[in-house]
Amino acid sequence: MERRELLICGSLALLGSPALATSRQESTDLVVIGSGGTGLTAALSALEAGHRVMVLEKMPITGGNTQLAAGGMNAAETRPQAAKKIADSWKSMYDDTMKGGQNRNNPELVEILARQSAGSIDWLLALGADMNGVGRMAGASVDRTHRPLAGDAVGHNIVHALRQAAIKKKLDIRTNCQVLKILQAPNGRVTGVLVRNKYGELFSVQAAAVVLASGGFSANLARVASYRPEYAGFSSTNQPGATGDGLDLGAAAGGELIDMEHIQIHPTQAAGSKILITEAVRGNGAIMVNREGKRFVNELTTRDAASAAVLKQPGGSAFLVFDTAIRKSLKQIEGYYHLELVREGATPAALAAAIGANPQVLEQTLDTYNGYQAAKGDAEFKRVDMPRPIKTGPFVALEVRPGIHYTMGGLRIDVKTQVLKADRKPVPGLFAGGEVTGGVHGANRLGGNSISETVTFGRIAATQAGAYIRQVSKLKLG
Ligand SMILES: Cc1cc2nc3c(=O)[nH]c(=O)nc-3n(C[C@H](O)[C@H](O)[C@H](O)COP(=O)(O)OP(=O)(O)OC[C@H]3O[C@@H](n4cnc5c(N)ncnc54)[C@H](O)[C@@H]3O)c2cc1C
Repeated sequence: MERRELLICGSLALLGSPALATSRQESTDLVVIGSGGTGLTAALSALEAGHRVMVLEKMPITGGNTQLAAGGMNAAETRPQAAKKIADSWKSMYDDTMKGGQNRNNPELVEILARQSAGSIDWLLALGADMNGVGRMAGASVDRTHRPLAGDAVGHNIVHALRQAAIKKKLDIRTNCQVLKILQAPNGRVTGVLVRNKYGELFSVQAAAVVLASGGFSANLARVASYRPEYAGFSSTNQPGATGDGLDLGAAAGGELIDMEHIQIHPTQAAGSKILITEAVRGNGAIMVNREGKRFVNELTTRDAASAAVLKQPGGSAFLVFDTAIRKSLKQIEGYYHLELVREGATPAALAAAIGANPQVLEQTLDTYNGYQAAKGDAEFKRVDMPRPIKTGPFVALEVRPGIHYTMGGLRIDVKTQVLKADRKPVPGLFAGGEVTGGVHGANRLGGNSISETVTFGRIAATQAGAYIRQVSKLKLG
């Protein structure tokens, strides 16, 4: 086959072709697949430890889903919590995470997530990220969701800090470069990757170790429906690159896929759009009502329960309802105004008219809720965290419906982030962290735990891959 033909096709079926031998070859110590939170954290940490690192990103820009993260990052026993006199413990974060995941989580990985979360906040603060605001997202017992002080979106802030560090340290990042295959020696040891760039050109990169940090598959709607047919026709909150290639790359290299049927739908995607309305809106005090104007769920229950409750309402959607005080408490809400996603009313009755709800019902709902808020007890739905009443006009409503948001399943890893085969032995030289892995979140992820996972497991992957690289090079020298 002509090389040109090979390049145009770029098909996996052609990978065995002799023409491949003629394509460009590069080398490094560590290849990181994906440039979201996990990938950039792992790459920067490995670079700091003195290794040569190459990051390969298939999209034209870095950041992955991480740059879209809005609500915050969960962590316990942190300095920002201490400054606000919030009493928390890693054990409480562990317990909340296990409960949220319906105890289907891998307890060892959850313990790492919780115990090392404060260190991950410190690492980000040292990098220049602003993690000084602390709020709460669903399923958490105390305020432990860290975000910028002014209530800006967390993902943009973190990715900006990671990108700045990458520029400063001259990290080798190749965008528009999709990894097609993990290359292995006959004994299964990882030897590098095969890559396709935006011109369709194939090249290989030799490396002693590979970190898979390629995210989940929520943007691959056909794959989502193959595991969960009832989600066919839903839209996704994810960036278009979240197609799950990494799962296939890891599985082809021998890794085991677990928990693939556990797919999270987020209860509040703005109806008729791909925009996620952050859980922090509810965390800061918003309630959810149905088309009539009635509350129907504890708004801060776990995402699976909240989504199921929304889907049971007429039309399968609901309205987030809040007021000007809540609007002022969270800067991100201004973005929803810019996108013209909100409806307003000077009074609850005027808001009801704007969204087609029953004015008396909505007025009654708000009166009752404000009563619960003042009395610190929600007699109907047992919502615990009600930080503000909803009584300062103008009043605001935003229609939401559930969207495909997060994939809990993925490659099985151990506490060293080594990718494990079905026999629980590691694929030598292959490490993974973040949404491409399964086990941390069990059957349902708590909001705020994923960003925490990216930093904590990204750092572990760098340390463990670094140790492996040193071991391999010693063997070669010896
Ligand atoms: C709108 C939105 C809001 C969210 N808000 C929060 C929040 O507030 N708190 C929270 O904890 N979590 C939140 N999440 C979830 C969280 O952002 C993600 O789960 C997390 O960022 C995943 O990080 P990652 O590093 O594993 O993957 P990503 O950040 O998705 O990065 C993976 C990268 O790998 C690239 N890639 C994929 N395949 C290949 C390939 N074959 N070759 C090369 N590159 C490849 C992708 O293009 C992508 O850039 C949110 C998610 C979304 C979509």
